[in-house]
Amino acid sequence: MTTNSSREQGTLGRGGLTEAADGAGSIKRPSARRGRAPVDLERIAAAVREILLAVGEDPERDGLRETPERVARMYAEVFQGLHQDPNVHLKKLFRQKYDEMVLIKDIRLVSFCEHHLLPVVGQAHVAYIPNGNVIGLSKIPRVVDVLAKRPQMQERLTEELADLLMQELAAKGVAVVIEASHSCMTIRGVAKPDSTFVTSAMRGVFKERLATRSEVMSLIFGSRR
Ligand SMILES: [Zn+2]
Repeated sequence: MTTNSSREQGTLGRGGLTEAADGAGSIKRPSARRGRAPVDLERIAAAVREILLAVGEDPERDGLRETPERVARMYAEVFQGLHQDPNVHLKKLFRQKYDEMVLIKDIRLVSFCEHHLLPVVGQAHVAYIPNGNVIGLSKIPRVVDVLAKRPQMQERLTEELADLLMQELAAKGVAVVIEASHSCMTIRGVAKPDSTFVTSAMRGVFKERLATRSEVMSLIFGSRR
């Protein structure tokens, strides 16, 4: 999965707003989700200019002149999940007689907390027990990415992911564990640089059977010191 910083390098340095919007296919298209308006880059740029003025900066000085447009493109990218439908990645299932646990560990997660609009970086671990259908391994990280690239709360993201997978895979059970570091805690406020926030959502047999839940937890955390 592409990380935030490497993608950013891809879009920086390119021309004006229109070109950047063209480059990021999903941005200009009308929203697939709840009829939201597409991203208004000009409006974000104007707001960023206002913030610079409000904190006492000079948006016209050399280093800041292109910042509002750059930040606008960044927001369009990090919130692109608002205009994407995670279900499209869950349509192609394979019939397979396999009813043991499938676990995908350490899925890179980059999200933004909706309270401060600051990055949340961590890993998602997703397990499911199939009920006749399995899904291609690359699809689950894509679903994580769509849901993460929205203003989020980690608790809600965890539950949304579990409910969506439970529903679309018609699985016997789904377990989602997310561990992430919240910039709003590590760089400001209480400033606890080492703290990690862990959330979990258990559905189906993971919720009903303690042994199954213990098994997934030891597969996820067991190898750690
Ligand atoms: Zn926050």
